[in-house]
Amino acid sequence: MFPELVEGEHKLRFYKHNENSTQPMTETAIFETKNLENPSFNSLGLAPELLKALTESGYTTPTPIQAQAIPVALAGIDLMAGAQTGTGKTAAFALPILQKLLPLASSSTSPAKHPVRALILTPTRELAIQVEESVKAYAKHTQLRSLVVYGGVDIRTQTPHLKTGVEVLVATPGRLLDHIEQKTVQLNQVQMLVLDEADRMLDMGFMPDLKRILALLPKQRQNLMFSATFSNEIKKLADDFLTKPQLIEVARSNATNDNVTQKVYQVAQSDKETLLIQLLKEADASQVIIFTKTKITASRLSRSLVKVGIAADAIHGDKTQQERIKALDAFKAGTVSALVATDVAARGLDISELPMVINYEIPSAPEDYVHRIGRTGRAGASGVAISFVSEDEEKYIVEIEKLIKRQIPKEVIALDKPSAPSRAPRSKSSHASAQAKPQEDSVTRRTPAKRKSTDPWFDQPYEPSAQSNEATVTRQSNAKKVPVAALLGGLLSGK
Ligand code: AMP
Repeated sequence: MFPELVEGEHKLRFYKHNENSTQPMTETAIFETKNLENPSFNSLGLAPELLKALTESGYTTPTPIQAQAIPVALAGIDLMAGAQTGTGKTAAFALPILQKLLPLASSSTSPAKHPVRALILTPTRELAIQVEESVKAYAKHTQLRSLVVYGGVDIRTQTPHLKTGVEVLVATPGRLLDHIEQKTVQLNQVQMLVLDEADRMLDMGFMPDLKRILALLPKQRQNLMFSATFSNEIKKLADDFLTKPQLIEVARSNATNDNVTQKVYQVAQSDKETLLIQLLKEADASQVIIFTKTKITASRLSRSLVKVGIAADAIHGDKTQQERIKALDAFKAGTVSALVATDVAARGLDISELPMVINYEIPSAPEDYVHRIGRTGRAGASGVAISFVSEDEEKYIVEIEKLIKRQIPKEVIALDKPSAPSRAPRSKSSHASAQAKPQEDSVTRRTPAKRKSTDPWFDQPYEPSAQSNEATVTRQSNAKKVPVAALLGGLLSGK
């Protein structure tokens, strides 16, 4: 028997929990549902202390994942939630945790009165930090304490904080095991466990660590699992660790957010840096994440941007945790406007209202594209995702389009530089001649040249391409060139 199906809003797929069902999740089916009334935070029965914090955070209505997950979690039922980052999933588990722990909150200074009661595991340090920041913000009017522990920093700096006692502990698996080994944390009173971004935890090889940690937790506990995708491995993990879970899925797995305008700019590999600089300077873009495939490219590119006067920094796996936090804080504060990141480093980044991401290099795994562009267009805001695609990366775009089940509009972009080849779309010869030109020529310019173009296409005002993402637009080579800022303006306003 399948669990009972109830109707949900926002293309939710939702199973009503069936206490009598012993059906493993791997054998359940997914149904499309519609039209469930979206409740307010008030009607979810949250405590006044939490409602106050939500109002102060500027939240007015629950997101679909919050509307569905909070009542289930409050009812003490195990949850398997399919939600990508940007859907508001953190509050979907943090609020019920805090609500359920409120009766146990204590003003006592005795550590014994503040045992770890909720454990939240995340795959990356950045995500752990952000989750704990959210927990702290929602718990600000309560006596509940939270702490984050992650690797890459001296463990001794975390121990004193742990010893004072915290009810909600956010951790990356490896560092938590270090603390367990050093006996600086006790997990025998954990009553709620969250596995956040469980799919990424499996991808990153955390399964053995997870098993070790889970074996140390009390058997009697509630488990909440969040994952962006429902692979067979995830279903297996859910079968192993969850008890009669209720399944909630918001939006299709691997779906891209409709608030994000996606574009492909076809450009030779050797022209990418010049195009990026032009784009950033002419558009005066205030906050952009630029994705590269490798750490080396991330570092090199951020240095090149700095050289031409763009406030840039890079985050990747070779940077220390302090360097990554510093770069992220500077980016959030606006002193760094371009953050160059690799996929792993960018996982879990939550920068509210990030208007744009640029894929400087296209990921070979199409899922990474979905995660990358999920950095923009969050919580209902609109965003732009531009992908610089060289000829040899087109195969990746084909795979990405298959995964997201839509075509991304394409434009052939030519650069305003003297030796650029004529705009014949991606011919082998134009590619070769662009590569022959030394890259440093273009990147060391302090100001992008405002030369008048010889190609009349560029003197015409920009016309946004078809509004729909379904259309594929390839500009003809006899069209006029437009400044990159105008292209961007068209993108931003043409949403
Ligand atoms: P998350 O998916 O948890 O990473 O959340 C994505 C972003 O949405 C974060 O910046 C949250 O602060 C924000 N957010 C979460 N819930 C809401 C809400 N109900 N209303 C407005 N913003 C929200």
